[in-house]
Amino acid sequence: MTKLTNVPVTVLPGVGPERAIQLAELGIKSMEDLLTYYPFRYDNYQLINPVDALHEERVTFRGKIVGSPSMRWFGKKQSRLTVKMEVDNIPITVMWFNQHYLKPKLSYGSTVMVTGRWDREKLLINGERTFFSQKEQEAHLGQFEPIYSVTSKIKVSWLRKLIMEAFKEYGSQIEEVLPASLRSKYRLISRAKAIYYLHFPRDIKDGHQARRSIVYEELFLYECRLIWSRLQNRHETKGISREIDERKLKEMIDNLSFPLTSAQQRVVDEICADLKSPFQMNRLLQGDVGSGKTVVAAIALYANYLSGYQGALMVPTEILADQHATSLKSILEKWGLKVVTLTGNMKAASRRETLEQIQQGSADVIVGTHALIQEAVVYQKLGLVITDEQHRFGVKQRGTLREKGEFPDVLMMTATPIPRTLAISVYGEMDVSIIDEMPAGREPIATYWVKKEAWKRIMAFVAKECKAGRQAYIICPLIEESEKLDLANAVELFEQVTLELSPIRVGLLHGRMSSVEKEEIMGLYEQNDVQVLISTTVIEVGVNVPNATVMVIYDADRFGLAQLHQLRGRVGRGGGASTCVLVANPKSETGKERMEIMTETTDGFVISERDLQMRGPGDFLGVKQSGLPEFRLADLTRDERILEVARNDAKEILQSKDGITSEEYEDLLKRVQTDESILD
Ligand code: ADP
Ligand code: MG
Repeated sequence: MTKLTNVPVTVLPGVGPERAIQLAELGIKSMEDLLTYYPFRYDNYQLINPVDALHEERVTFRGKIVGSPSMRWFGKKQSRLTVKMEVDNIPITVMWFNQHYLKPKLSYGSTVMVTGRWDREKLLINGERTFFSQKEQEAHLGQFEPIYSVTSKIKVSWLRKLIMEAFKEYGSQIEEVLPASLRSKYRLISRAKAIYYLHFPRDIKDGHQARRSIVYEELFLYECRLIWSRLQNRHETKGISREIDERKLKEMIDNLSFPLTSAQQRVVDEICADLKSPFQMNRLLQGDVGSGKTVVAAIALYANYLSGYQGALMVPTEILADQHATSLKSILEKWGLKVVTLTGNMKAASRRETLEQIQQGSADVIVGTHALIQEAVVYQKLGLVITDEQHRFGVKQRGTLREKGEFPDVLMMTATPIPRTLAISVYGEMDVSIIDEMPAGREPIATYWVKKEAWKRIMAFVAKECKAGRQAYIICPLIEESEKLDLANAVELFEQVTLELSPIRVGLLHGRMSSVEKEEIMGLYEQNDVQVLISTTVIEVGVNVPNATVMVIYDADRFGLAQLHQLRGRVGRGGGASTCVLVANPKSETGKERMEIMTETTDGFVISERDLQMRGPGDFLGVKQSGLPEFRLADLTRDERILEVARNDAKEILQSKDGITSEEYEDLLKRVQTDESILD
């Protein structure tokens, strides 16, 4: 039998060279592409009572017109037509944009069927398709019509017919992908049937069942691929086999100014096991802001040193590099390690000196920004590479640092909490460690959302805290006034707050300052010589000043949830009860929602899940370069549970070969290895 991936769409009647090009623009070249070009939604022509319709849902109503239409023009092309209608005794408004030609049809008392998006608050439907005659209404009533994303040259109705045609000719050649045991275990329908129902469901139930089957299949195959490549790597990737003096390591850990949390200890053990194993470590360390990742990095660097290697810690900002260098020095220098810093803004002489120390091996731990991966930097014996706030780096940057050594072990730390299952699917080839426990004695951060009108009260609160010896951050979004957004200006805010809080010492930190200036102001803040720090988001990641207990975020609704969580994480670091004040008069619903989520929870994992739900995985972590895989049908937000199940099944099947016939196994391996499948 011919594989449908090898059958070009041009075999179908009506698909000539021109159509072939148009279809190719949609990514449709083969029969398989066409059959798996799923609708992105269905128009649902089942009638619903407005009382049951959800806000923003696409619905179909049928009712009587009970008013006369009114029309407004905006310029020559844009128009808005509205009319009152009664649906199941509920008066609603129908509004059409740019469909002025419908006006003559809207006669008083006539029955109309209209489909569109429902605004439950305004009792208003945004008319998209409207059916006037009895005949038209009956023809669509109760139907589900697949809607495809198309270009201007291709019509949805044409594509629909083409897919129907494809099914007639080739539907019987759609092959199963999943082992029969899995299909019966989850009562999945056959692949051919599922694909058919995705295009042409008879009812909602069909659609759900079909979706479930195909989503599982997509995720199962994806996981098989990840697990397969990981099994391969396990055997092929070389690494450093090393001895670590456990006694010395323990001595160092016992000497820390605090006992490790059990989560930290567990992660340290996992890392040490990896360091000792002959395979290259590739580990992601996730831990919410403030969970204490830095000290774990310090211990890993020490263990690496004990086995005779250099270690590098790469961070996204200079402020963070300085701060990490300081804390690593305080932890490591007493054990004889030399810690050096390498950033982009160093004086030529000290840079040369540092580079020499790195090359000769007198520098044991190198902390820096992406300056660490410049060509001029030659490491003598790099055995461990750590990136902090790793989501700030591209895949390539991380790769370059790794190549500076000979199969060095790699640890990536991040506070951007990706839900566990997603982390596994994104970083599938990695091991994941999680610090899921905060150091003892942390008091929860009380979070309040207040309006700008309450500014005076907020300042009074800040003043009170400062008088009690505490410190505060005040964050504002942008450094320069942007007329468009009317954002608070850090400089102006600084001047205002300096007056308001006098004689409390206020400092200013922003991205336009030179590194020397930044260093100086951070130094003053760390020593409590500056009590209130007005800052743009340059302090967002990683900064650690435990005595700061107040975080005021101005125009908080302009920030994303992940960023707000990071910012809030700058307080509550051991200096006592902490407060976060979100100052915002949000205009949008999502802005309000973000403020509410922040006041409800301080759990980074919960926040990231809500963030994901609100934004969709596409935007999460900023665009596609995040590496989150995309599927034809599966949606990692919605289908997280299926992902988890599929992962376990994939693991079991590939490792034990249970529940799969040898023929199915061969087939599966072929798909997994050749990358040729229903996935991109
Ligand atoms: P993050 O995980 O956000 O990078 P840090 O490593 O900056 O967090 O740690 C936050 C604060 O918690 C630091 O002041 C650090 O010294 C402190 N800390 C870390 N681990 C512990 C612990 N086990 N007990 C008490 N304090 C700790
Ligand atoms: Mg950190």
